[in-house]
Amino acid sequence: MLLRINHSGLSFDDYLHLLPKDLLDELTLLADSFKGMRFVHANSTVSGGGVAEILQSLVPLMNSLGVQTERLVVSPDDPEFFQVTKRIHNLLQGAQGSLSEQESEVYYRCVGEVAKEIDSRGLEADVWFFHDPQLLPMASLMPKRNGEVRFWVCHIDLTAPNAGVLQELTPLTQHFDGLAFSLPEFVPSAINGHPPHYITPPSIDPLTDKNRPMEKEEALGIVAAMGLDPNRPLVTQVSRFDYWKDPWGVMDAYRWARKSVPGIQLALLGLSQAADDPEALGVLHSVKDYASGDPDIHAFFYPDDLPDSIDRIVNAFQTASVAVLQKSTREGFGLTVSEAMWKGQPVIGGNVGGIKTQIEDGVNGFLVSTPEECGERIVHLIRDESLRLQMGDAARESVRQRFLLPRLAVDYLRAAQSLIA
Ligand code: UDP
Repeated sequence: MLLRINHSGLSFDDYLHLLPKDLLDELTLLADSFKGMRFVHANSTVSGGGVAEILQSLVPLMNSLGVQTERLVVSPDDPEFFQVTKRIHNLLQGAQGSLSEQESEVYYRCVGEVAKEIDSRGLEADVWFFHDPQLLPMASLMPKRNGEVRFWVCHIDLTAPNAGVLQELTPLTQHFDGLAFSLPEFVPSAINGHPPHYITPPSIDPLTDKNRPMEKEEALGIVAAMGLDPNRPLVTQVSRFDYWKDPWGVMDAYRWARKSVPGIQLALLGLSQAADDPEALGVLHSVKDYASGDPDIHAFFYPDDLPDSIDRIVNAFQTASVAVLQKSTREGFGLTVSEAMWKGQPVIGGNVGGIKTQIEDGVNGFLVSTPEECGERIVHLIRDESLRLQMGDAARESVRQRFLLPRLAVDYLRAAQSLIA
């Protein structure tokens, strides 16, 4: 039910050559002020999805800066819990409906059991970060110790939430000392400054196998080992199989582009499914139906028999593609966008949520609202190699300035500092 993970990995020194100096100086200073304190980041899945991706790198970075940091994976035993929390996720991103009494009972009971377990195991921290709606009731159910600071970090897109469900859940935020959102427009107006909120957009780790530079030849070799033709143009979307990632719109865009670029191939990479996302298989089946046996649409789901690690496969597809898509209709941030931009790819992304904050339309990528527009941009990038390279350089630089991991570490430490008495 509770898994304590002490990730080991790279240290602060490894990032020095990659980042603006003022950011590195600020991070060192902030970290010094937290020496001797203990941070815990809790989320609900070991791997799969953006939050797990961030925490596996953030934890060793913080420890290497001298801030004792641990990760706690909270995974209630009741299998219904993740059905309910995925529904809450969907409702908060704007799905129709409401929570039934039975769903609420499962939600609060399961989080309550975890809160009790944390207490009975004597797990303590000076600063807690509870990530995402799965853990939103935690502060109301866990006894508060003296001096402890507790944050709720919301990674989802709250641009157009289901109003009834948002209203029902907002009181839970009042038990936290601070709230963190990825964009200012996600902050619900009802919070009205109590508790204080912080804007902490996610960021990527440039030093993982997923994001380290990979030679094009090597990338093409991995793509070929996955069954694609390395000599034909490749378009990729890397995403969990999730309704909001709009894999159907991606297929429509590919079909549109194929009229002008025969031989184009599409990869939908959803190898890292999260344990807290029970809908993936259903979405995959619908994607396969919609692909109607097209041999040039490759949907990857089962992580068996892979020619390489998942991280290196993601890297290879992002590196080898002529166009990388993230055609979401809601997106809290979309790490996949920065991941591809860091590799010099101008991403074609849905004009929503966190994607809008990463892509400057026409400068370092394209923002699109329809599959046709997306298809047009694919053709545009394939036909204009020099534009692709120029936008790709701008994409990499904007990620270097704004979306590399140490910046997120600064955001979290600044937020904690402002609340520590
Ligand atoms: N991911 C992966 N393999 C896959 C699909 C996704 O490793 O087959 C990773 C992806 O590279 C990214 C994370 O899962 O690091 C997804 O984060 P994002 O913020 O894009 O979306 P989320 O899943 O959190 O909605």
